Amino acid sequence: MAEPGQSESSPATPPSLRLFFALWPDDATRDALNRTGKWLHQHWGGRRMRADTLHITLAFLGSTPADQLDVLAACADAVKTDAFELVLDQAGYWRHKRIGWLGASQTPPQHVDLVGALNAALQGAGFAVDARPHVPHVTLLRNTAGGEVPACVQVNWSVSDFVLVSSRTETDGARYEVIRRWPLS
Ligand code: ATP
Ligand code: MG
Repeated sequence: MAEPGQSESSPATPPSLRLFFALWPDDATRDALNRTGKWLHQHWGGRRMRADTLHITLAFLGSTPADQLDVLAACADAVKTDAFELVLDQAGYWRHKRIGWLGASQTPPQHVDLVGALNAALQGAGFAVDARPHVPHVTLLRNTAGGEVPACVQVNWSVSDFVLVSSRTETDGARYEVIRRWPLS
């Protein structure tokens, strides 16, 4: 509740950003993911995610005061994991969310290390992170009926960095902006 005389835009209210850490595809990988989205849409229908939104979430922070960005950056700086090859070879459907996605039949150990190290650092700094087991996936379709899972052409993704992203909700879906990148060794 705002105090009397204070409005939501009062300087006393620190600005906040909706934030998440993610794997962000290079242009060629993005094109391949987008082609897979088009193909899966032909099978399952729904709303295709725009090419510029395609990503894998590593840690979702949600609404975060902007003055916490330095703390978040320090958490990401502490992550020392290796670059890796991610093979996305499996389409999937989550009925409860009506989401169609592309994932990996085998999650590389470096991906597990990256997610584990990042979430541990965030938790250590006091951020609330998701304790559920992480399933790496690229959301391709929203509000889809799903169906039989078709065999798909795999997408090979050379993962050499991870990013911090800010998300704004607009009428036609989310708009994402990459704020910063961290290389993997
Ligand atoms: P919108 O919510 O506007 O429809 P969106 O879900 O793409 O669009 P965000 O809600 O900002 O945008 O989510 C950003 C990313 O974080 C997405 O990959 C989303 O799946 C993931 N995400 C959102 N909420 C959570 C959560 N509570 N736990 C884990 N991941 C989340
Ligand atoms: Mg959302």
